[in-house]
This record gives sequence, structure tokens and C-alpha cells, in this order.
Amino acid sequence: MTTPRVVIVGAGFGGLSAAKALGRSAFDVTVIDQHNYHLFQPLLYQVATAGLSPADIASPIRAILGGSKNTRMVLARVSAIDTAGRAVIAEGQRYPYDFLILATGAQHAYFGHGEWAAFAPGLKTIDDATYIRRRILLAFEKAETEPDPAERARLLNFVIVGGGPTGVEMAGAIAELANRALAADFRSIDPRCARIILVEAAPRVLTPFEPSLSDAAKKSLEQLGVEVRLGEAVTALDAEGVSIGAQRIESRTVIWAAGVMASPAGEWLGVETDRAGRVKVAPDLSVPGHPEVFVIGDTALAPGSDGKPLPGVAPVAKQQGYYVARLLAARQKGESTAPFHYRDFGSLATIGRSRAVVQMGALRLTGFLAWVLWSVAHIYFLIGFRNRAVVVLNWLWNYLTFQRGTRLITGMEGARIADMPMPIDEKEAMRRAS
Ligand SMILES: Cc1cc2nc3c(=O)[nH]c(=O)nc-3n(C[C@H](O)[C@H](O)[C@H](O)COP(=O)(O)OP(=O)(O)OC[C@H]3O[C@@H](n4cnc5c(N)ncnc54)[C@H](O)[C@@H]3O)c2cc1C
Repeated sequence: MTTPRVVIVGAGFGGLSAAKALGRSAFDVTVIDQHNYHLFQPLLYQVATAGLSPADIASPIRAILGGSKNTRMVLARVSAIDTAGRAVIAEGQRYPYDFLILATGAQHAYFGHGEWAAFAPGLKTIDDATYIRRRILLAFEKAETEPDPAERARLLNFVIVGGGPTGVEMAGAIAELANRALAADFRSIDPRCARIILVEAAPRVLTPFEPSLSDAAKKSLEQLGVEVRLGEAVTALDAEGVSIGAQRIESRTVIWAAGVMASPAGEWLGVETDRAGRVKVAPDLSVPGHPEVFVIGDTALAPGSDGKPLPGVAPVAKQQGYYVARLLAARQKGESTAPFHYRDFGSLATIGRSRAVVQMGALRLTGFLAWVLWSVAHIYFLIGFRNRAVVVLNWLWNYLTFQRGTRLITGMEGARIADMPMPIDEKEAMRRAS
């Protein structure tokens, strides 16, 4: 008998948890990812706002899975799946499978306005984070030498579209960057005069949280100097700012934190998806009609116990990864398994360096205590001792000194600041939108 082959596409939260759980199993496991690292996305905003370095929140996949002798890693971008021939196709190669786990996550969605990607980058990858960091820091640098007051104001206006956890965290972090870390660095401008504007179409920020926590988050943002505009949707977006109906906010730095779209796994499989591109999965997370194919994490549409779709968060992806690994092991033994059941341990979001909101079962916390819990949880879930140690030290340093040590403008390849176009070029925009 040959060893059954499991191919896992994506080494994010879902794929990696499946791969780790299958590490010592009687399967031949292949993990395929387009990057050679696993990324801890919840702290990506800290890279974008110069609080942490990329290597602090990412770990090489080969190093994480190195101890699993039945597992190999392939660095490649998957573009199709031959379900009839049971093979994954990536960069001209075929990877045959007996069981397939698709965990390819989500990407930005611009609500039918792909052209906005050129002006408002989203935050999903390390490249996105270092690009946003460059845009933010360059805006201050350009403002320092800009003679035209209108353009200077435009450079010092920062608009964040979307009041979910990422938008709230970005807005709070940019406010602290301007008010503290950069405050004394410039001679012609006062970074504390920067306007940070958070625009949210819903009537409150952090809609997955209870209204009282949304209110607390809004208050905390306002105390940091962020202008929070609720119930207002962006209707136009270009290189010089955003329009909200008839109102115009001039800005050279607009950050998109408003919408996501699942990876194209549904198209690869040719199966039913919802409007956000998520594959509708059976209670055991398999694809209807394909009991050997599983879709997990942000790419899957699986209902929770209340019948509503499970949220696109890391714990859902991780629990689904472990579940499918256990299910495969049980199936090999001829045993049956119960349907997937998500255990919700709660939600956390931070606002700046010392405030957060926490919703865990009956527990509701705001302020400093919530921030301590948020910090502990994020350190605990980071992969690797080195990353944990470095992040703790960085946070301690930033907390005590109000500094942000990774204020590096990189990726300019020798271009002069004056030559640096503020909007990204068409090709880059297409890449980000696709
Ligand atoms: C900025 C940000 C902040 C977040 N904050 C939080 C938070 O605080 N708490 C929380 O619970 N969740 C948070 N999330 C959501 C959480 O990160 C996701 O729900 C989770 O990562 C989903 O896991 P996944 O395995 O489905 O996908 P991912 O973790 O996104 O992994 C997908 C993997 O698939 C790979 N891949 C994609 N396409 C291909 C392809 N064609 N070929 C090969 N490989 C491919 C990618 O490289 C990636 O490694 C945040 C997300 C973002 C973007």
C-alpha cells in the first residue's frame, strides 16, 4: 500500500495548523505556499507604522516544519486544480494528491473599484506593510520641504478607510507616530498637526464587538486625536484624496482597510461560492461533491452555531486546520468524526500603545488592562521564541521611550524623494487588485 498523499495549499494560520497536526501522521504531506514564510498578520499594522520589523512577525515555513520528516515544503504559486486528475498545478508542475486542503486566505476587495488600489494600498502582506510604512514616512519628509501650504496639508492628512480592527489599529498607531515618535524630528513642520481621519460606512467602529466596546474604542481614538467619521462611505478616491458624497478630504496617504475577498480557490475548483468568493463547505469542511477536498480559513464559508458565517479570523482558520488533520487520521482508521464546531474564545483589538477592547464570553474589558491582555495573547500566539522575545523587547522599549525604532524608508532603489511618485504605478496597482 502506498502512503496517502495530503497536499496543503497555503501555510497561513489554517494550513500551518493542519500541517503541524499531520506532522507525525501516516501521511505523505506537501505544503505549497507562494511565500517562504508564515506571517502573523495581526501585528502587520505595527510593521506598517514602524513599531516592528518584518522578521519579528514572520518565520520561515521550512524552519517551522523542519522536524516533520513526512512533510515537504514547495515554494510556488498555485494557479489551478485538476480535480478529475487529483493534482494541484503550480508554476507548470503537477502535485498529485489523495487529499487536498486549501487554505489560501483572502485578499483586498475594493467593492468593484479595483482602480482605487493604485491610491489606497491595503494591508495583507509584508510588502504591503513596508510599502505603507514608506508612504507614511515619506509624507512627513515631503511635507518638511513643501513650500505650498495646501500641498503640505494634503501630505499631513492621513485617511484610513474602514473601521474594523485593522483600520482602528492603524489609525491609533499613526496618531501615536505623529504625536510622539516623530514629534521632535522635524524643523519646518510639526508632525502633531497631522490629521488622521478614520472613515467607516457603518454607524460604529469594530462592528463585531458589542456597541459599548465600539463606543469605548471610538473614545480612545478621539483621545489620541483621530477624527472618526461614522455612517459615511467613500464614493471616490484618487491620488489627491477621497470623496464622501459631496465632501472632499484632501490626502496623499489613503490606507484601505475596508473589505476582503476570498482567494480564488472556488474558481480553481469550479464550485459554488458566496459574493465574497468563499467556498460553501459541508459540515466536515469538505467541498460538496469532493469528499477528498477541504477548504478552510478565510477561503471557506462555514456557518457557526448561530447559523451565521464564521468570521475571517485566525482562531477559526487554526481550529479548522486541526479539525481536518484529525478527520483525515480518523478516516484512515475507518472512524467517523463529528461536524466542525468552532470554539469562540473572544475578540480583542488595540488602540494605540496602552488601550484595547476585549470581549471574551461574559468578560468585557477596556483600557490598560485590556491592552495587557491583548499584548499577552499576541505574544503567546506568535510563532517562535526569537519572535516572542524580540517583540516583547521592542514593545517594552517603545512603551518606555515612545519611540518607534524601525522608521526606515526602504525600497526606493536610489530614487530621490522628489522623484518618488505618491500613487503606485499601474502594474503594481493591478498586482494588488488581482
Ligand atoms: C492586517 C490584518 C490584521 C488581522 N488581525 C487579526 C487579529 O487581530 N485577530 C485575528 O484573529 N485575525 C486577524 N486577521 C485575520 C487573520 O489573519 C485571518 O483570518 C487568517 O490569517 C486566515 O487564515 P488562513 O489560513 O485562511 O489564511 P492566511 O493566514 O492569509 O494564509 C494564506 C496563505 O496562503 C498563501 N497563498 C495564497 N494564495 C496562494 C497561491 N495561489 N499559491 C500558493 N500560496 C498561496 C499565502 O501566501 C498565505 O501564506 C487579520 C488580518 C489582516 C490582514
